[in-house]
Amino acid sequence: MKIHDITGAIFEGMAVYKDKPEKQPKLNQQTNGYVTETRMELDVHTGTHIDAPLHMKEGGDTFESIPLESLVGECKVVDLTNVTNGISKADLEGFGLEQGDFVLFKTQNSFEDHFNFDFVFLAHDGAQYLADLGVRGIGIDALGIERSQEGHPTHKILFGQEIIIIEGLRLKEVEQGDYFMVAAPLKLVGTDASPARVMLLEGANLCTK
Ligand SMILES: [Zn+2]
Repeated sequence: MKIHDITGAIFEGMAVYKDKPEKQPKLNQQTNGYVTETRMELDVHTGTHIDAPLHMKEGGDTFESIPLESLVGECKVVDLTNVTNGISKADLEGFGLEQGDFVLFKTQNSFEDHFNFDFVFLAHDGAQYLADLGVRGIGIDALGIERSQEGHPTHKILFGQEIIIIEGLRLKEVEQGDYFMVAAPLKLVGTDASPARVMLLEGANLCTK
């Protein structure tokens, strides 16, 4: 079995949304000479993470409402490295996507290690197309699934259909195709997102019981 780790590394100085210094993780390491402990301060939208509806909706569901069943299962990586701006309906139509799919977008974002203010995002009509299809979830290799869209239509359309949103994936080394995904967030309670370790398993022999 091959494991593709499609998670971004977390460290001080990593790429954060819009390069905002307050979004940098802080890792405060203390040692007394024999015991070392690190205290971590982390925005829940740091690196590879999963959003909860509360992120874009007052009183929306918090992170623990997302069941593991929604985060583990088959997924499709689609190669959108030709897209330079917003991913539109026209960009997505050729992939034969279907209801119930979990789709990961591999874009030019995966080839950049610094925050790019012009990152590739999911445009309004692309989000609407996927919501109408009834996909299960969407993952993107940008720290946001939308980019300065007034009123946040992309997030709202997707959350409106209970579509899972994973942001900050790293897909440079992964080719288009079908995989088995394990997205394992922290078991946070009451939050609007959680960092996650996300991996794609290839050739896995998943025992069925
Ligand atoms: Zn987020």
